[in-house]
Amino acid sequence: FTVLAVESSADDTCAAVVTSSREILSNIVIKQHDLHEGFGGIHPMVAIEGHQRNMVSRMIPRISLFIEVLSNSVTSMQPTAVRRALEESRVAVEDIDGVAFTRGPGIGGCLSVGSNAAKTLAAALGKPLVGVHHMQAHALTSLLTSPTDEHPEFPFLTLLISGGHTLLVLATSLSSFRILANTVDESVGRTYDKVARMLRMPWGTKGPAASLEEFCRRDLRGVHVPEVQPFAVPMHGKLAFSFSGLHSAVERCISKSEVVLTEAHRIALGRAFQDGAARQLCAKLVQCHSMLLRKGIEVRHVVASGGVASNSFLRARLREALDKHSPEQKISLVFPPPELCTDNAVMVGWAAMYRFIAGDHDEYSVELRSRWSIETLPDIRSTKPR
Ligand code: ATP
Ligand code: FE
Repeated sequence: FTVLAVESSADDTCAAVVTSSREILSNIVIKQHDLHEGFGGIHPMVAIEGHQRNMVSRMIPRISLFIEVLSNSVTSMQPTAVRRALEESRVAVEDIDGVAFTRGPGIGGCLSVGSNAAKTLAAALGKPLVGVHHMQAHALTSLLTSPTDEHPEFPFLTLLISGGHTLLVLATSLSSFRILANTVDESVGRTYDKVARMLRMPWGTKGPAASLEEFCRRDLRGVHVPEVQPFAVPMHGKLAFSFSGLHSAVERCISKSEVVLTEAHRIALGRAFQDGAARQLCAKLVQCHSMLLRKGIEVRHVVASGGVASNSFLRARLREALDKHSPEQKISLVFPPPELCTDNAVMVGWAAMYRFIAGDHDEYSVELRSRWSIETLPDIRSTKPR
């Protein structure tokens, strides 16, 4: 079964082709960092316009457009990201078996660009359509990308850490998720982005948080590095995340400094921030695992995903924390490859796959859900394939 999927819930315009035999035939991600850097964060109207340009407009030279119009060819009438995804996959559009899109949660106007593209394509081709929950897609990516012997088995615990979410979720099936911990204030991804801006990180092609991670890896041998006190992990005892305190603590350190910060000082602050964020994520993960064990639920598999899970410093810290927590019985910990932790359409196509395979799909009129809890996903309805 071959799925064409689109994703446009935040600022990346994505399209991909993925198959039920776990082949990723194409993965197009068009980033908008250059559009939003001047605003210091995602500007919704600018993001919508960006999606419209990248998902819907045609990126073909005028001369070939002219020739195609003359020759009455309609092959280039697909949207840009979709067109590229199809071309790279080498799958002809009529050989696509189903179309998937991100139904929510996300920025309403952004979601509607992907939704309209997907619905139009599916209806025009007469193919089934599935609307996917964005965080379910992040959570299930590892089922596609991990080698079979490292496959996470249900029930698994999933740490979803991204721009809009910081969640610990118990996954008991492909569509049943229970939220065990949430953030009481901002998400870890948003905090990463804000701290990166405070430390004057360029957005580059990968965004401010990825620039900060790279910056913290700079070699400081032979350089005097100012000491930065470790930042505290908040709310001991409670199973909830909080990142606003860490954010303000870094802000205070920067504003307290009377001189312009040296590069070494910025690196030291960045490292202390990464360390504080990692300590909190590790502590809550371990606490959550113990809590489940006390309730008789033994979880042997942990999946981390979402943009922040692409951070290699954090990946190593999570591994260490689980090994220390459960030295006898190793808890498996898997991550999608970094480029599939941040937003992409591969994960959307894959999360839709089990419904397509069951012969289930949504109506072409299916509405968006810009606010949508991962706890309320639809059960698989067995319908006759179109
Ligand atoms: P959500 O998935 O919650 O709807 P989103 O889709 O906007 O939010 P993702 O694309 O899943 O977010 O993740 C983007 C976030 O990942 C950014 O906010 C950024 O802070 C974070 N991120 C990306 N790369 C890194 C990195 N190397 N280290 C830490 N954080 C990172
Ligand atoms: Fe995301």
